[in-house]
Amino acid sequence: MTREVPVAATVAELRAFVRTRRALGERIGLVPTMGALHVGHLSLIEAARQRADRVVATIFVNPTQFGANEDFSRYPRTFDADRAQLAQVEADLVFAPAVTEMYPAGFVTTVSLAGPASAELEDRFRPTHFAGVATVVAKLLNQAQADVAVFGEKDYQQLLVIRQMARDLDIPTEIYGAPTLREADGLALSSRNVYLSESERARAPSLHQALDAASRAIARGASIDETMTQARSAVTAAGFEIDYIEARDTQTLAPVTDGAVGALRILAAARLGATRLIDNVAVAAT
Ligand code: AMP
Repeated sequence: MTREVPVAATVAELRAFVRTRRALGERIGLVPTMGALHVGHLSLIEAARQRADRVVATIFVNPTQFGANEDFSRYPRTFDADRAQLAQVEADLVFAPAVTEMYPAGFVTTVSLAGPASAELEDRFRPTHFAGVATVVAKLLNQAQADVAVFGEKDYQQLLVIRQMARDLDIPTEIYGAPTLREADGLALSSRNVYLSESERARAPSLHQALDAASRAIARGASIDETMTQARSAVTAAGFEIDYIEARDTQTLAPVTDGAVGALRILAAARLGATRLIDNVAVAAT
């Protein structure tokens, strides 16, 4: 039988755990999540395990990163199943604070961002999202004092925003980006995939297929503009409404034109019915 993973509900309990392990000379890894865990999240735990002696997973559906018309209240909450999955991958602690523990009465501070947070990708459609993410992640990093924190490339703009924030605020935790886990048909694993109807689920892989085809075309030397136009047509034909599909500089997220030097990333967000999916792929260096 697998051991149950202990749960910390307060910052004081989290800090006591970290203090004890640190005193033994152990390295701490942190994996922040909003729960509704899937194999993609578990791969982050494994990545943290390779870089630390103890792994703390956090489960907190952060209200401040959801817009007024987004899915905060219906976001899937599956704590018992999450805890069982974390036991399978031998996480050492789950930090699952209440909203009042993270945002006690009188809380007023928000991290203000520019750079990758203002690339006109996710931020264009979710204008308050990254301030909510960066503030909660800054809090989690300060609370846990981890040596390394693992985030998914699935949320690529978020990963760059967090790296920039940690660097600018002198947070000493290393930020490690882990690759996206996908279903066999290419659909990126996401807690939001449970919202898809059967017919939407059947069409959902088209998003990744289009990004993958675009990535290969650009790597072969095709025009970026024409390739993006084709990718948008393919995704629209599959029944999506596109928020954006763009090729950008992989480090800065600045727009790119043909002949640009440096590595590229293609990033996308598109809605299938009421479900908004995001994905991104690297363009292989030529
Ligand atoms: P969330 O799904 O918002 O709770 O994300 C928690 C962490 O898991 C973030 O760092 C995400 O980027 C990461 N993540 C989400 N989906 C995947 C996936 N399919 N593969 C790898 N990491 C993922």
